Amino acid sequence: MNILEAKKYGKEQLKNSPSPDLDVSVLLQFVTGFDRTQLLLKRDCNLSKEQETNFLDAIKRRKTGLPVAYITGHKEFYGYDFYVTPAVLIPKPDTEILIDQALNSLALFYSKNENKDGSIKKIPEICDMCSGSGCVGISVLKALLENDGISVNCLPRMTFVDISADALEITKKNAERLLGKGEKLNNPENLTSALLKIRFIQSNLFENVPFSFDYILTNPPYVPHSESLELLKDGRSEPLLALDGDVGSDGEYSGTEDGLFLIKRLVPKCFEHLVCGGTLIMETGEYNAEQTAKLFEKTGFKNVHIEKDLNDMLRDVTGTKPHSLAFSSIA
Ligand code: GLN
Repeated sequence: MNILEAKKYGKEQLKNSPSPDLDVSVLLQFVTGFDRTQLLLKRDCNLSKEQETNFLDAIKRRKTGLPVAYITGHKEFYGYDFYVTPAVLIPKPDTEILIDQALNSLALFYSKNENKDGSIKKIPEICDMCSGSGCVGISVLKALLENDGISVNCLPRMTFVDISADALEITKKNAERLLGKGEKLNNPENLTSALLKIRFIQSNLFENVPFSFDYILTNPPYVPHSESLELLKDGRSEPLLALDGDVGSDGEYSGTEDGLFLIKRLVPKCFEHLVCGGTLIMETGEYNAEQTAKLFEKTGFKNVHIEKDLNDMLRDVTGTKPHSLAFSSIA
């Protein structure tokens, strides 16, 4: 089978996918190691026996509804290549706005905390709650290092938290792949490693997290229970635990249907775990963002606002913990 034949075969097999052309192209790139242009130029090139077997197997798996990212093990997010398995949600473009917001706010934080000699008075403490692949916290750190010129010494201390041990393993793996070499974790002398400033904590929300933060960034489960079950019917194999917002503290279905059961527990916990003046940025559904914003206000957050994503959908709710009650009543 040559590349052109493989493309034809794949497209025919995946005609029920919402994106057959793209799926086939990415899967062919995955099995051949060619990029998109090479695939076009080498369309008469025969696949090796092994490549053909891998391609047919990938098509078969995609036909079950399994997303391409779980087949290749990779998903690009914020320009970075994340390793993914069905233990974690596949990073979505909707979440990129959360990174932009965090970076904008961090730019202000750094400028407020800069000494005259250019050193930094206070290193920001950040928590990525419900970290999954780690795409939120890792993208923030990478963008600060690579785009904003923040040195490793001035990078925020990042605490990744997830209830799932399997998900936290993927967070770790991505942090090691994207921010440094794993072995540097064991060498506290090596300050060149961004990884030294990272904690990984397996915890049901903040249960095992005895720290306070300047920022809490979170993409928690927020999809209503029945919609989560509906979504998973297409064979996407994303973890229900990471989607379903209607679970109680024991992980069991709470009986509610607004996707907010977990968020109602999470928002006050975030308030407790933020320093005064600290900021919470939370991804929500376009259908429950306004209710979440009200919840922020009820909890005591100030400057609460909702940000839209690139598709113009209500997506992120942001709020600040006031410096003091007296201050907040004047402001
Ligand atoms: N739409 C989001 C996704 O599929 C939902 C994520 C979530 O519940 N946090 O990634």
